[in-house]
Amino acid sequence: MDGCIFCKIAAGDIPSDIMYQDDEFVAFRDIDPQAPLHGVLVPRAHVATLADLADEGLAGRYLQAAAKAARAMGVEASGYRVVVNYGPDGGQLVMHVHMHILGGRALGWPPG
Ligand code: 5GP
Ligand code: ZN
Repeated sequence: MDGCIFCKIAAGDIPSDIMYQDDEFVAFRDIDPQAPLHGVLVPRAHVATLADLADEGLAGRYLQAAAKAARAMGVEASGYRVVVNYGPDGGQLVMHVHMHILGGRALGWPPG
C-alpha cells in the first residue's frame, strides 16, 4: 500500500536487517529493539491490523511463520515471546499488522 513503511520494507524499497523470509512473510530487526533479539514479522500483503486478518489460511500460516522466524533468529531453545499490539491501549503505531518476536533474555510478565 502506498505510504506504508512496512510494505516498503517487505518489498526491499527501504533497507532492513532481514531475519527470516518466505513467499508470504518477512521478519526484520526492529529499529528500536526491546530485547537482544527483536524481530518484526509482517505479511508481504498489506493488512492493517489483527482485526483485518480475515483470510484464515493466511492467519494460520502467519502463526506458523512466527515459529519459523523464531527458529531462524536462534531463540527456539531459549524461548521467546510473540506479541501483536492493537489499538490505543495495545499501542499499535504502524498500521500494517506485525508480530513482535522477542527473545535473547528472560522476559518479564506481565508486560508493562
Ligand atoms: P507497534 O508499536 O506498532 O506495535 O510497533 C512498531 C514497531 O516497528 C516498533 O517496535 C518500531 O521500533 C518498529 N519500527 C518502526 N519503524 C521502523 C523502521 O523503519 N524500521 C524498523 N526496522 N523497525 C521499525
Ligand atoms: Zn503495508
